[in-house]
Amino acid sequence: MKNLFRMFGIITTTAIIGFAMAACEEPCSHTWSAYVTKVVPTCTVGRTEERTCTKCSDVETYYGDPLGHQGLNEPKAATCSEPGNSAKYGTCTRTGAQGCGGTVIAGTVITALGHQNINWTSFNATNGKISACDRANCAGGFAVVGDTGPKGGKIAYVKREGFDVTNSSGDGTDKAYYLEATPGDVEGGPFAWALASKVDTNITGTEKGIGKGLRNTQVVLTADSSAPAAFAANGYGNPSDSWFLPSIEELQEMHKARIILGMTTGLYWSSTQDVAPYTSEAFVQNFGSGTPDSLVAGKIHAYRVRTVRAF
Ligand SMILES: [Zn+2]
Ligand SMILES: [Zn+2]
Ligand SMILES: [Zn+2]
Repeated sequence: MKNLFRMFGIITTTAIIGFAMAACEEPCSHTWSAYVTKVVPTCTVGRTEERTCTKCSDVETYYGDPLGHQGLNEPKAATCSEPGNSAKYGTCTRTGAQGCGGTVIAGTVITALGHQNINWTSFNATNGKISACDRANCAGGFAVVGDTGPKGGKIAYVKREGFDVTNSSGDGTDKAYYLEATPGDVEGGPFAWALASKVDTNITGTEKGIGKGLRNTQVVLTADSSAPAAFAANGYGNPSDSWFLPSIEELQEMHKARIILGMTTGLYWSSTQDVAPYTSEAFVQNFGSGTPDSLVAGKIHAYRVRTVRAF
């Protein structure tokens, strides 16, 4: 009886294997179910779908491309005053589960070309705009950082909405749109901020802001007519062009254009004195690195001077 049972068991096993092979021989002529979505596509993730063979349970997976962002601007060429883009850019408009939450796509920005030979005699001082330059298809508009300024310097800062400049007597403001910097540092430097005998003199009324450098320079020279850094800056060029020692925030803006302005080494004096009790110090800007460091230093130290004017 024992042997009979064993034999029966072997026969049975063989029969099952044989049946399985007959039902789905390799290769299986699959019978697929419909595709089922496993991963819903989004701007950045592709669709994943699967289908299953009803005979052998094989699974086939389909991977789709991401949808890509929606509603972006087409690439555009740079003009004299407006940057271009060599790739699509803008804010994605796809919403809902398949959207990306309004991601801002920078694309690949092409710097504005800058103008060629601006005719500054036609400059509109009430809105800051220039007329078309010599470059083909120029529409005029605003000058850009790096353009040659009306007094032969370089445009160092542009604010299209304009900014208020406290005038040299401090009793009013003028509207300006640009800072123009001299092409190089003032010769004969570096300069101390104050003479040794005046280091401890508290000069009240200098400020940090954009548009304050002109007034600061006059305040310093009124208190100390031979303050070396302010004197050097103020003495550049024609007096009617009102060159001055920039405030610390004006220098911070110039730091953003440090490569274009050729200001890539050392410390530059601002016209902004530190506040009490640190009145023997004034603010300097470090142009030696790409990090925009503003520091205070003793007035006796000698640093570089770059002269600017606002218009
Ligand atoms: Zn199959
Ligand atoms: Zn998107
Ligand atoms: Zn132009």
